[in-house]
Amino acid sequence: MEKLVSLAKRRGFFFPSSEIYGGIQGVWDYGPLGVALRSNVKQAWWRTMVELRDDVVGIDAGILMNPRVWVASGHVQNFTDPLVECKKCHQRFRADQVSGPRHEDDGGEFTEAQQFNLMFKTFMGPMESSATQVYLRPETAQGIFVNFANILNSTRMRPPFGIAQIGKAFRNEITPGNSIFRLREFEQMELEYFVPPAEEMKWLDYWKEERFNWYLGLGVRRENLRLRAHGKDELAHYARGAFDVEYQFPFGWSELEGIAARGDYDLTAHQKASGRDLSYFDDIVRERYVPHVVEPSAGVDRTMLTLMIDAYREEEVRGEQRVVLKLHRSVAPIQVAILPLSRKEPLTELAKQVEHQLRPHFRTEYDDTQSIGKRYRRQDEIGTPFAVTIDFESLNDRAATIRSRDEMTQVRVPLDELLPALRERLA
Ligand code: ATP
Repeated sequence: MEKLVSLAKRRGFFFPSSEIYGGIQGVWDYGPLGVALRSNVKQAWWRTMVELRDDVVGIDAGILMNPRVWVASGHVQNFTDPLVECKKCHQRFRADQVSGPRHEDDGGEFTEAQQFNLMFKTFMGPMESSATQVYLRPETAQGIFVNFANILNSTRMRPPFGIAQIGKAFRNEITPGNSIFRLREFEQMELEYFVPPAEEMKWLDYWKEERFNWYLGLGVRRENLRLRAHGKDELAHYARGAFDVEYQFPFGWSELEGIAARGDYDLTAHQKASGRDLSYFDDIVRERYVPHVVEPSAGVDRTMLTLMIDAYREEEVRGEQRVVLKLHRSVAPIQVAILPLSRKEPLTELAKQVEHQLRPHFRTEYDDTQSIGKRYRRQDEIGTPFAVTIDFESLNDRAATIRSRDEMTQVRVPLDELLPALRERLA
């Protein structure tokens, strides 16, 4: 983990937020490579969950919502973690994350657990009174539930169908940590899939498989992934069943995504509190019902961390160590690096021409600094699957070398065949 965080900082994936002021706990900033990786993760999710399906549509709801939403959803009452404080040093912990009645570091006794609400509050409008108090959303799901009727009325969607959303969420976590694993500001990718009540368990089964396979498709190694069914004691009172996709992080198996059968809990709660009808009339079987919901809920930041950890390798090559991120070609921030062997003309001019030719088709980077060995090392560390090297011979034979990150093989390819050759390798 330490090595990865240092690589992330050195190469520009992520940095502690407001670092020049000493940082702020639970918030990280994404640098150029981090933004690219995150954006690729989100695109991959959107492509699979929305664009490639005819039964899912997307929305983008506000982060700030009418505060009644959070009363109806149960968050004001129940979105809490049990908090204990060490009576000696006054540090605070999540009660379910401490191992005994005393603080291991100083032997101080813990207080009784109190429920601590994780929602951030802020004020809307010109008065700082509680009448205008609003919350930063702690999940994107509620923006979907409150728009259920809007989607039903404005589209052709009929159950079983889903509404998807990607967006920021905020939780005042008692103990943020493990770099971008547990944050106070993070991004979620959530689908609410609305089904006829009798089909709920079938769809839970379907979505848990789909979601598990999605991570395999992004190149995560199967042995580091597992599906874990929630025990009866873990389930929320309304939930019919739930699974976590878990990943074997350096700090142990932990949740990467949750998939839950939520019954009609959410729509019924909002129906009651808002007075609006959130049922659906199926005119084929002539039956009115409140759809049940299956929810796969994933984290952008956590997926990104997983992809980086899973891709991280230290290898020995001809007596030398190399660090390589074996990121899947679909998410790698840079797909093709263009590297002229030297900074001399007319070599750089030719290399720039090649880069211009490739840039519209791939995520490319042109680099002519430092020795070629150092440049390969940098591209390996940031996970670039292919490098195109332009050397002095290229001026004569109008060809370049494609170096592969994983096999470290080098093949000579005519310049006019570079595009199809790379297309084939990156497909
Ligand atoms: P925990 O019990 O670990 O606090 P949770 O079960 O409440 O988490 P969910 O509400 O199921 O988490 O959130 C769905 C997904 O959103 C998680 O699987 C994770 O990927 C992401 N997520 C939740 N909280 C955080 C956070 N604090 N930082 C980063 N990602 C998060």
